[in-house]
Amino acid sequence: MTNGEVYQHYIGGEWTDGTGDETFESENPATGETLGEFRRGTPEDVDAALAAADEAEEEWQALSHIDRAEYLWDIYHELKDRHEELGEVVTKECGKEISEGKADVTEAWHMVEWAAGDARHPKGDVVPSEIPAKDAYMRRKPRGVVGCITPWNFPVAIPFWHMAVSLVEGNTVVWKPAEQTPWCGQIIAEMFEDADIPEGVFNMVQGFGDAGEAIVDDSRVDTVLFTGSAEVGHEIASKVGGEPGKLAACEMGGKNGIVVTENADLDIAVHSAVMSSFKTTGQRCVSSERIIVHESVYDEFKERFVEAAENVAVGNPLDEQTFMGPLIEEGHVEKVTKYNELAKREDVNVLVDRTELNDDEIPDGHEDGHWVGPFVYEADAHENLRCTHEEVFGPHVALLQYSGDIEEAVEIHNDTDYGLAGAIISEDYREINYYRDNAEIGLAYGNLPCIGAEVHLPFGGVKKSGNGYPSAREVIEAVTERTAWTLNN
Ligand code: NAD
Repeated sequence: MTNGEVYQHYIGGEWTDGTGDETFESENPATGETLGEFRRGTPEDVDAALAAADEAEEEWQALSHIDRAEYLWDIYHELKDRHEELGEVVTKECGKEISEGKADVTEAWHMVEWAAGDARHPKGDVVPSEIPAKDAYMRRKPRGVVGCITPWNFPVAIPFWHMAVSLVEGNTVVWKPAEQTPWCGQIIAEMFEDADIPEGVFNMVQGFGDAGEAIVDDSRVDTVLFTGSAEVGHEIASKVGGEPGKLAACEMGGKNGIVVTENADLDIAVHSAVMSSFKTTGQRCVSSERIIVHESVYDEFKERFVEAAENVAVGNPLDEQTFMGPLIEEGHVEKVTKYNELAKREDVNVLVDRTELNDDEIPDGHEDGHWVGPFVYEADAHENLRCTHEEVFGPHVALLQYSGDIEEAVEIHNDTDYGLAGAIISEDYREINYYRDNAEIGLAYGNLPCIGAEVHLPFGGVKKSGNGYPSAREVIEAVTERTAWTLNN
């Protein structure tokens, strides 16, 4: 991508430098290489994008769902046709290993397929009335202008989770990609341009948190769709909560647990824990940083998990054999390192400490990448330690031993402020049912790794992880209004 060009915003159907002088760079986190230079959006650029979105609303809403979906079918085909190439872009820009880079693109077209296909499904309900001659319906209307603010870790999938349903339902969109993944933002905006989407219906402003704040603060925005950290999400939810008629749907982080009971198949348990803790270098919202293991299987589980953590190889994420790539940026290496140090100060028993990798563990030509290896420790399951309760978002894993029954395991599992995802590994249906009914999470996995999403299921958390508006297919609840319509015949 580096060709001397400074990439622009896409506002009102045109590419523009916007009003600011500042630019920023996208970096390959595995090599430190600069990938491209981008305009940094200002509040004035957001203002222009919102004006365009506001103006485009009426004509866009005059189209049928099916006509609006036609624009998305074009994008669906482009995502599929360019699967390999786009998967590589994702991997180069956010460091996920290549099968995950491609999976990010696959998930995006699944979402577009769902939203565009859903255009032909009934929207709303015909409901019975107490009065015989009366027709009663629930109808959905678009809310208007949707502001989308997305994180870097699913730089293609999550934007489409926000935008595909929003657009088909008749909303116009202003989107700010994450500052770490502007190249993915550029490509998605080009796709909307290639699809000839009417001007102003889709707008993209590159930039940082100040551009995101300008979206959140503007009264022309009817719905804010946010996915990212709890810190930012709660700030957005509380700001928007004070504005009548405006809504913010926030999907945030987690401190996710896996329960391994005395009735677990340990092959499944170790596989599940390794995948959930180290895939994407622990940088998934659903990654697991707490493994809660029954004392009867603890020693064997620990031995096998520690051996796996010692041997997980970091590598060039473009190489098909690589299991774990780099962290996203140097600032994040510092954050993960601080949490590893904090755990030591909190007096946990460290089992694996690969915070700083040896030179020979780092792939040739990748010395400037942001590398951190697994950090595994055992801690008291009932102690309120920061390291076992705060989201680290890296390969930082606590083993927590319990001795009682499933009730105790679930109590430990639920003992965090977060409530995004979790898993149980057990061959006992009573334990599985208890976990299903009592785990305080939005996404529960049984005998599976605690990762993975399907767009036709709701994706969202409870407690500190969400504010009641799950994403994926459920985004419809945040981008439409339900109205009751009654007619006396
Ligand atoms: P982040 O909160 O730092 O940034 C997310 C987006 O918000 C970025 O586009 C950023 O520029 C923008 N932003 C930052 N400050 C803002 C402000 N004050 N107002 C408005 N916008 C602002 O998160 P991140 O580091 O990009 O992503 C990692 C986090 O996202 C983790 O906590 C992870 O668990 C979470 N996440 C959650 C889900 C989910 O579906 N629940 C999915 C992926 C990631």
